[in-house]
Amino acid sequence: MNAIKYAEIELLASLAGFSPIHNEADMKRYLGDWSGLVGGQPLAVLRPRTTREVADIAAACHKAGKKITIQGGLTGLAGGAVPDQGDIVISLERMNKVEEFDLQGGTVTVQAGATLQAVADSVEAHDWYFPLDCGARGSCQIGGNVATNAGGNRVLRYGTMRELVLGLEVVLADGTVLSMLNKVMKNNTGLDLKHLFIGSEGTLGIVTKVVLKLFPKPQRRYSAFCALESFGNLTTLLKMARSSIPSLSAFEVMWDDYLDLASAALGRAKPFDGDYPVYVLLEAEGMDSPEQELALQRLLEQALEEGIVSDVILPHSSEQAAQLWEMRDAIGELLSGMKPYIAFDIGIPVSRMDGFIEGIKKDMQASYPSARHLFFGHLGDGNLHYATGPHRDEDIVPIDDFVYTAVEKAGGSISGEHGIGRLKKPFLRHSRGPEEIALMRMIKRAVDCNSGLNAGRVFDSSE
Ligand SMILES: Cc1cc2nc3c(=O)[nH]c(=O)nc-3n(C[C@H](O)[C@H](O)[C@H](O)COP(=O)(O)OP(=O)(O)OC[C@H]3O[C@@H](n4cnc5c(N)ncnc54)[C@H](O)[C@@H]3O)c2cc1C
Repeated sequence: MNAIKYAEIELLASLAGFSPIHNEADMKRYLGDWSGLVGGQPLAVLRPRTTREVADIAAACHKAGKKITIQGGLTGLAGGAVPDQGDIVISLERMNKVEEFDLQGGTVTVQAGATLQAVADSVEAHDWYFPLDCGARGSCQIGGNVATNAGGNRVLRYGTMRELVLGLEVVLADGTVLSMLNKVMKNNTGLDLKHLFIGSEGTLGIVTKVVLKLFPKPQRRYSAFCALESFGNLTTLLKMARSSIPSLSAFEVMWDDYLDLASAALGRAKPFDGDYPVYVLLEAEGMDSPEQELALQRLLEQALEEGIVSDVILPHSSEQAAQLWEMRDAIGELLSGMKPYIAFDIGIPVSRMDGFIEGIKKDMQASYPSARHLFFGHLGDGNLHYATGPHRDEDIVPIDDFVYTAVEKAGGSISGEHGIGRLKKPFLRHSRGPEEIALMRMIKRAVDCNSGLNAGRVFDSSE
């Protein structure tokens, strides 16, 4: 028996109290995430219930020189939660409690494994509102949202997860617990360390608890679905909507191919009689007042009169509005029918987005005519999603390279919200300079000297 095997047996013995999962059948669901990437067989999967347990597991792995893969709800699209052969997997799924509300101050403290949906529901039951939202809400966890700095549909008004987190509790690779459960908006007491961990994709620490900032619960949501003749009209409408509706919370754009396929996938007729190149689902939320409703109606009337919008659907009930949002959320179903697909989540300056899409569409359709090419995005924050597939395995890297080179030329970012993980690591250089990546490595070494947490994600620790 070699030294590492002996160390593994010792480690497993020390972790036996945590009821590890060892057998292949039960481990299956911990091998991959939504990206479709499948990893190696972990040595064990552990599902701690408390921060102390997470810290004890981390300390034991650190001592034994064993690598840890951290898992939330496994809805990530960059392969960050996919384990390597022989890893210890820490799944946060049992740490799912909503622990404490501050109903005066508007904060909630939750364990990292609580799902986004469960937290949002629990907060609403207390007459407050947590605005982060995305199609994976039923499975993704708050810890995963923090680790990926999740964005979603309402960033336009409320910002990304970074703007919604007041405090964090984090376990470092050696088992040290950082209790930074701050509950106030102003706290200038040296470096704000929580920002090191938000968006670090589990490379610097294991998030175990989160203090979230809450908002007054909107009394009503107003949605409208608009069909437009051009991208130029879309940016004009966004500007008009921003100035006339301060409560504008979403501006979700879908190009024609996306809407056609989403309608078919949901078994519905296309929502508009005519065909248009681009559509937008906009949402405002706030008081249930005639003024709010009137402001939206006036905006749409003016946009129709000026020919900026060609057709509008104003839902007459929350059920009808929900049906429209199902179109936008149908991406999960669409992707499963496009496997093996590539899902780009890129940031493009709005002024360059139209030209960027036209160029990519033309070249990709010419090179891969049998694949689908779907564009949709959160235009208000410059975040564009492009899903394409099915593709042959050998075409995936050249396509990635082609698109990311175009993103760099457009002055954009190779990830707007899903993160770098494993899948986008080879392309990080298109968005970040060598000096920046060197500094990221220095920080990783300072916080996790053995590269024990999520090794090989975002960047390689040594190079
Ligand atoms: C249908 C669909 C729609 C989506 N829409 C959006 C969207 O609109 N906006 C958006 O931003 N994303 C979206 N996503 C992507 C995904 O839901 C987010 O990235 C989400 O934040 C991942 O959370 P998770 O708990 O599933 O994390 P996982 O997939 O389990 O993990 C993601 C990364 O975070 C790390 N991690 C997880 N938990 C922790 C923790 N407690 N501590 C430290 N590291 C941790 C993992 O190691 C991994 O690197 C979508 C995904 C799907 C499938």
